[in-house]
Formats: sequence, C-alpha cells, structure tokens
Amino acid sequence: MVVAKVWNLVRRPEGTPRVDDFALVEEQLPPCKEGDVLVEAVALSVDPYMRYRSRIIPLNAPMFGSQVAKVIESKNPEWPVGTHLVHYEGWRTHSLLTAQYIKENQFTIKPMPEMGNLPKSLGIGILGMPGNTAYFGLLDICNPKAGETVLVNGAAGAVGSAVVQIAKIKGCTVIAFAGSDEKVAWVKELGADYVFNYKTTNISDALSKMAPNGINVYFDNVGGKFTAEALPHMADFGRVSVCGAISTYNEKKDEAVAINGAFKEGFLIKQQLRVEGFLVHRWNDRWMEGLTQLKEWILQGKLKYKETEFHGFENMPKAFIGLFHGENTGKAVVLP
Ligand code: NDP
Repeated sequence: MVVAKVWNLVRRPEGTPRVDDFALVEEQLPPCKEGDVLVEAVALSVDPYMRYRSRIIPLNAPMFGSQVAKVIESKNPEWPVGTHLVHYEGWRTHSLLTAQYIKENQFTIKPMPEMGNLPKSLGIGILGMPGNTAYFGLLDICNPKAGETVLVNGAAGAVGSAVVQIAKIKGCTVIAFAGSDEKVAWVKELGADYVFNYKTTNISDALSKMAPNGINVYFDNVGGKFTAEALPHMADFGRVSVCGAISTYNEKKDEAVAINGAFKEGFLIKQQLRVEGFLVHRWNDRWMEGLTQLKEWILQGKLKYKETEFHGFENMPKAFIGLFHGENTGKAVVLP
C-alpha cells in the first residue's frame, strides 16, 4: 500500500494566501487495478492561477495543481513503468490515475516531449504549460512582426521570460518590466532591449521615452494599474494579449473590479486596439507543436530558462505564496 502526502486547502485565502490556509495530510491509496497507473511526483508546480482555483475548489480536498510524475506501477500498456507524464491531480506526492480518470482526462494527462539531457522539471515550465502560454499567447494572438515594439511585464517570470525571447527571435524590439534589479539584469541577458524595475520606475515616462512611436504588441501578465498606465502608449492597431492579472489576484472580487478599470474604452476606440484574453488550453490540439518548437530553440541556444527550486514537499505553500512576493525568477518548482 502506498501512502501519499497531500496538501489540502482548508480555508479560503483572504488577501495573500497564508501557510495555514493549507494542511498536510496522509492518504492511503487503493491498489492499482486493470487500466490504472500509479505515479510519484518528480517536480510539482506552483502557478499564479492556483490563487483563482483556491476560490472555487472544495475545502478539505487536495489543492489543485500540475506536476511531472514518474510511473512507478502500471496496469496500463499506454503508460509503462518509468514513463514520465504531466498530470493535474494536485499537490500530492503519489497519485493513482485510474482507468476511468485517464479516459475522462485525456487533455490534462500529457506525455512529456523527449527530454534528452534536459531536466524533467521543464515539463511544468518552459517545455510545458507556461512555455506554451508564451508561445501561443504571443504568436497566435498578437502575430508580432519584425521591427515592431513589444511590451512584456512579469518579464522575469516563467511565462514573461519566454515571451521576451520569442519576441526577440521574431525580430521585435522588446521593452520589459520586472520587480527587482537582479531580475532586470537577467531579463537584459535574455536579450530585451529596454528593461525596467516597475517598483522604482515611472512606467508611463519610461514608455514615452522608449516607445515614442507607440507599442504594437502588449503581452500582459500583470493587469491592474500597470495596464492602465501602459494602454495610452499603444500604437494604432496595437494588439494586446491578456494572459494574466497577477496584481489583482489577491483582491476581493469587488476591489479587483474597481482596480481593473484598466481597459479604458477611449483608448481601445481611438487607437483601434485588438484586446484578447485566452486560456492556454485553447491550444490543446497543438500542444506538442509548441513544445517541439520551444525545445528546438533551447537546443539552438536561442531560448534560455531559469528555475527557482524549493526543496521538500512540505514547502508547497511557501513556494506558492512566494509567487505573490516575487520570490521566483523563471519557473517556481517544488522538488519533493
Ligand atoms: P511568474 O513566474 O511570473 O510568477 C509570478 C511573478 O509575478 C512574481 O515572481 C512577481 O515578479 C510577479 N508579481 C507578483 N505580484 C505582482 C504584482 N502585484 N504586480 C506585478 N507583478 C507581480 O508566473 P507565471 O509566469 O506562471 O504567470 C504569469 C502570468 O501569466 C500570471 O498572471 C498568470 O496567471 C498568467 N498565466 C496565464 C495563463 C493563461 O492560460 N491565460 C497560463 C499561465 C499563466 P516581480 O518580482 O517581477 O514582481
């Protein structure tokens, strides 16, 4: 019998989540039957979207999330022992993926690309959901062209750091914002043309100076006040990819609505902007296309990545909360 360690959500977070919103419990897993697969977590993901999930998932049940896991017992020929996969069964060290669950969750149990010498944890990072968010969210929604100016915030994060580099691969000028001088230095290393610490810079002044002809493409990870300041600087026919709004996730629903008067109709009309929100799972049927291209760029040395590692499964809540304090550079991963 395998005993899994599991982090349950035991209280709805108010404001920034706290460690005691979660409780660590043990769960005895049922035996692996015909068609089932037993997996062990290799690298667990903490992502900003989990803050939203913490508003809607049941209490006293596992916290929602994805992980790279290794098959340790299998009665399913599609997933032999030793295979690595990505699944969304939550914050848990071991999971029994039943035949029924596998059948019903074809899009949320994902095979890993051939990783070669690359770390398996990239399956929840640049070669997984955040990588594809950058790839499809930038290229499919905004179609950036060589010579255009691209604005990216959250630029030292998992998604933002990839967006910066993909925009450079496409020949764009990139203006980026991140939350510390160390992060600014790293984003410059990634090739961004102008990088600012949004905590110590007047965003509007910086954009006036660096984008005198306006911003053609804005990849928004942050929302709220940042977007309110950025939008007037869009060029005519600019495109905005609304990926995330992390600056508002810890607000109460009503406060978030108040702050989010960011997309002023006047600018949308006058500058004739196209603004599109998305969820990355829109591209489920093209998932491997994105990962294949991202991996090729990594192997060609065109796409760099960083991971901030938290060691120990007991540190899941700490790693998650750290996202809201800017503790991660690149992808935050928990190695159990
Ligand atoms: P990150 O790796 O970027 O981690 C979060 C970072 O956000 C922190 O390190 C911090 O960096 C920054 N941050 C935290 N609080 C604030 C704040 N109040 N204002 C500005 N920046 C803040 O996370 P991801 O790359 O995984 O996600 C980035 C965004 O993309 C999120 O909004 C997320 O919800 C969204 N997303 C959307 C998806 C979709 O399908 N639409 C899929 C995946 C992600 P700093 O030090 O720079 O402040």
